Amino acid sequence: AKVAGKNCYRFYSRAMDQAVERRVRMEQDLRGAWERGELSLAYQPIYRMADSALMGVEALLRWQHPEQGAVAPSVFIDVAEQSGLIETIGPQVLRAACEDLRKWQRDFPAAAGMFVSVNVSPRQLRGGDLAEQVERQLEDVDLAPECLHIELTETAVIGDELRASALLSRLRNAGVKVWLDDFGTGFSGLSHLRRVPVDGVKIDRSFIADVLRDPDDLALTTAIIAMAHSLGITVIAEGVEKEGQFDILRERGCDLAQGYWLSHPVTAQDIEGLLT
Ligand code: C2E
Ligand code: CA
Ligand code: CA
Ligand code: CA
Repeated sequence: AKVAGKNCYRFYSRAMDQAVERRVRMEQDLRGAWERGELSLAYQPIYRMADSALMGVEALLRWQHPEQGAVAPSVFIDVAEQSGLIETIGPQVLRAACEDLRKWQRDFPAAAGMFVSVNVSPRQLRGGDLAEQVERQLEDVDLAPECLHIELTETAVIGDELRASALLSRLRNAGVKVWLDDFGTGFSGLSHLRRVPVDGVKIDRSFIADVLRDPDDLALTTAIIAMAHSLGITVIAEGVEKEGQFDILRERGCDLAQGYWLSHPVTAQDIEGLLT
């Protein structure tokens, strides 16, 4: 609705008009979706490459639309981000992920040192009180700060690095780990690591997809691992779909991995099954 004010209406082609309408409808449907129980979290296991131990999980939001069924996260999260709804949904995701992990830690000895990694969107980062919000949630849920990892994309920290690094420092001082997601896609990646304080980088799955075929991607991935390690930064590979990818990444010293070859995102209940 913001872009389609009455005066510019006539400039839209019919197709664009319909696209805008779809977004507006999706935004309306998304409002209150959490309260209605349509939103839930899937969890994808993250393993240590050296010994294949389960170290943690990434929380991934799912939306079961009452008529349309499952909606792709890349689609509805974009709508949530653009409309500002993410500022309501984001904290709900954070809360639920912390609560689930806390419950696993209470119920299963195997979950004692496990972490949960939560995606935080650029808008939440700009919103202001993220560090405060995180600290409050950890206290409410009684979760150890180092068990919470926050995933930020490169694009979220680019632009306002000074502000971003101040916020990241606050989070890290509180004991929370910060990971840079989709690493390598922003091109300015490597130089950023000197200015933006992070604990880990997740090498984007577009590089992982090609490590067996494309020598450039293998070289780049190997360079990222070496450089990150020289700065004391953990390296996570995402989108590991084949055994060969896992093997070569482990050989190059990559620390952690997730991907379909290891496990698809699963329900909270399935995670409990892994812990028993
Ligand atoms: P992401 O943070 O890069 O998350 C990883 C995506 O890769 C997930 O897609 C996951 O299901 C998928 N994936 C995992 N293993 C493999 C693999 O081996 N091969 C391939 N091709 N894909 C794999 P998903 O769940 O559709 O999420 C898409 C994006 O939506 C996420 O990308 C993230 O940017 C965003 N997202 C998901 N949940 C949240 C959330 O709670 N908050 C925010 N702000 N963003 C979220
Ligand atoms: Ca992520
Ligand atoms: Ca990613
Ligand atoms: Ca390539």
